[in-house]
Amino acid sequence: MTEELGWIAPDAPLLDEQRFGTKAALLSRGVRAGLPIPPGFVIPADHDADLSEDVIAAAFDRLAERSGEPAELVSIRASSIGPGSDVVPAVLNIGASGAAIDKLAGRYDARLAFDLKRRLLHSFGVGVMGIDEEEFEYALYDLMRDLGVDGEAELTADHLAQLSETYAGVLDEVNGTALPDAVVPQTCAALRAMAQSWNTPRTLMRRQARGFAADSPLARIVQVMALGLGTNAGAGVAHLRDATTGAQGLTGRYLANAQGNEALMGLRTPSLITRSEREAREMPDPSLEELFPEAVLELQRIGRQVEAEIGECYSLDFTLTEGKVQILELVPLKCSARAAVQIAVDLAEAGAITRADALLRIGPTLVDEHLHPTIDPTAARDLIGHGLPASPGAAAGKLVFSPDTAEEAAESGERVLLALVETSPEDIRGMHAAGGVLTVRGGMTSHAAVVARGLGKPCVVGAKDMTLNRVERTLTSPDGRVFKEGDVVTVDGGEGQVLAGKVPTLEPEITGAFAQIMEWADKERTLDVRTNADTARDAGTALGFAAQGIGLCRTEHMFFQDHRISAMRQMILAETEEERRDALAKLLPMQRGDFHDLFVRMQGMPVVIRLLDPPLHEFLPHGQAEIDEMANELSVTPQKIRARALELAEFNPMLGNRGCRIGIAYPEIYQMQLRALFEAVCHAANETGEAAKPEIMIPLVSAVREFDLLKREVEEMAQAVSAECGVKIDYTIGVMIETPRACLRSGDIAALADFLSFGTNDLTQMLYGLSRDDAGRFIPNYVERGVFEHDPFHQIDEEGVGEIMKIGIERARARAPHVTIGLCGEHGGDPASIDFCHRAGFDYVSCSPYRVPVARLAAAQAAIRARR
Ligand code: PEP
Ligand code: MG
Repeated sequence: MTEELGWIAPDAPLLDEQRFGTKAALLSRGVRAGLPIPPGFVIPADHDADLSEDVIAAAFDRLAERSGEPAELVSIRASSIGPGSDVVPAVLNIGASGAAIDKLAGRYDARLAFDLKRRLLHSFGVGVMGIDEEEFEYALYDLMRDLGVDGEAELTADHLAQLSETYAGVLDEVNGTALPDAVVPQTCAALRAMAQSWNTPRTLMRRQARGFAADSPLARIVQVMALGLGTNAGAGVAHLRDATTGAQGLTGRYLANAQGNEALMGLRTPSLITRSEREAREMPDPSLEELFPEAVLELQRIGRQVEAEIGECYSLDFTLTEGKVQILELVPLKCSARAAVQIAVDLAEAGAITRADALLRIGPTLVDEHLHPTIDPTAARDLIGHGLPASPGAAAGKLVFSPDTAEEAAESGERVLLALVETSPEDIRGMHAAGGVLTVRGGMTSHAAVVARGLGKPCVVGAKDMTLNRVERTLTSPDGRVFKEGDVVTVDGGEGQVLAGKVPTLEPEITGAFAQIMEWADKERTLDVRTNADTARDAGTALGFAAQGIGLCRTEHMFFQDHRISAMRQMILAETEEERRDALAKLLPMQRGDFHDLFVRMQGMPVVIRLLDPPLHEFLPHGQAEIDEMANELSVTPQKIRARALELAEFNPMLGNRGCRIGIAYPEIYQMQLRALFEAVCHAANETGEAAKPEIMIPLVSAVREFDLLKREVEEMAQAVSAECGVKIDYTIGVMIETPRACLRSGDIAALADFLSFGTNDLTQMLYGLSRDDAGRFIPNYVERGVFEHDPFHQIDEEGVGEIMKIGIERARARAPHVTIGLCGEHGGDPASIDFCHRAGFDYVSCSPYRVPVARLAAAQAAIRARR
């Protein structure tokens, strides 16, 4: 059986994490890299819990052969597959009893021998027999009180021998049997107990409570004991880098005469590791560096070695025995996004890892944290409430108290902050629409916090010191100030603060290590990343993140602003074509102005302009008050508006008269848009000297004939405007592939089109037969119960939607090998979907501006993974 054991030894094969657990796998890498790690053996996770004494005795013999001396004292540590090992305690000093005590006393001294013995009894009692830790703590403190001593250091060999007797009594009382007296049977008992304790309901609950998998198997490490006792001895933890910035610099804790993680347990006050940290914290007691400088130099040397040889930054759990440093565990550093990026870049620049490895290490959520606006540090803060910092970034806007109001306000281009008692799934659309979210109840894992983080929205939750009155729509600060709907406030989701007024913010900047990672990502990726932007402002933001053009400009959004919507409504209410043309003539200059600004901003980069897509009734007012207002404005009766709304009403508007069907039903609408667009090209060309090359996209095509008809209209308008302006207009025409039929007929369509762009929002809706507007109500439940693995509106469902997309791409490329293929649904910013796009041979993805960096990184990661 010893052949099945893994070995922590320089000449042994590296241990596989999936069999031997994370801790053991890291130790085996450390030992290979030459770190001073005590030798040991590991029982794999797939091995039966019970091991015979013969097997363990044979393993001890081999351990003695490897280390050149008998393993008299050992420790046993849990090594789970993945995190969570530390929910079961290590058993230390195994072997320090019976005849071994005399030997230890001879080798060290009697005090140390009895110290080891009482520590063994304590550790065995807690770790193996499940005795409450306090039983031992009380016995120790009772003894110290009786003796009138202040610390353990004052206990003599006799006192420790006496304490050992008391501890042995505690064990006897609970178990009724004495501790086996030799190292091998003690080891067997401890291994057995650890395996059993791993699966007790208490341990399972503790693992789950900390977010670790309940069913992860356990490997067990038996390692030669690093004593940490005697002169120049102790234990501690050393961090090699700052967890916030990632900068190099040693910090940590150290406790003299200690073992395991005693330095972190708060029983005695530990020293700091370096003098500079001690001075900065104004701590009186000397640091390890002052007590024992060689140890600190050694820790620094080991830290450099870990980074260079293992290519990762770990904190070091270490023990000092007779002045010699030994490493007991390499602990992954829990660090900020900024630090993770800095470390990855440093390691790649030092040649410890490749650039590709550095890129693969950056999780997309890390990128998100670099990308949000923050409050200008020089700005004054008028604090009106305080809560938990649930989602980073700062946002200012007008207060609204319902998700519907948030949606309405956002549609008219207002920036709002949604304030609620707490949120529920029905509020998601309102949260989408709001610039930031504030709740007066809830914690860091409340619905509002989780959703806001997912959406990348600044969010403060649990602002308990504020009073929210939903009926009166007011928010009252602790000092009694009342903020009404429409009043402007700012939330700082990084600090958990609510501030009065519009506080100046700084736009996120891509600098330093982050810029470096992005530069490397751009060299690796083959997929272009464009942005979905409807305004020159959005386009500017995306350009700041190095978007390579606009992949979707939804032109309908240009019509929602105040004065435009009435011209739009006039057009919809028109009874004759002539009236409609009159109304469209009012819209034309506005639309032309928008396109002009967009083209100027994009400086010749590709800009995909999608012609009008939503059903017309979406532009009509809904409530009575709005209808009256509109009737007044347009000098028509409210009845007329209601009648027209009734005419336009559809049972299933999403499957009704929208997309290219509007273009065919009311040709003058697309004609106006095309004229505005081509005239804007000419004007911008005259101003900037550089002609934009728009890519005109027809939405919701399902039959090639639809495209054929509209394509001719595009060409005719281009010719007409070109002749009028005397400017040669360069443009392309493409199709949005967002119906299943378009996927299947993509060969015919591609034969006529310059480009295809998959609209995966509608495509997912249609392929599943699942309304994209209603799905949010039950999909979270579906995902929770495992019915769907993911929300298909966030991550492409590769098995279904992905499958039909692949068919579409194959047929399109078979007929038109050079047709450009992109994606512009919400999935364009989702890393897993981007990976799919890379594999499926897309040319670009397009996503919202703030997702552009994530998409660039995800595209690079996809390319690296595919290559490997
Ligand atoms: C789509 O359907 O994927 C798309 C991008 O268009 P919209 O979301 O505007 O329908
Ligand atoms: Mg669509």
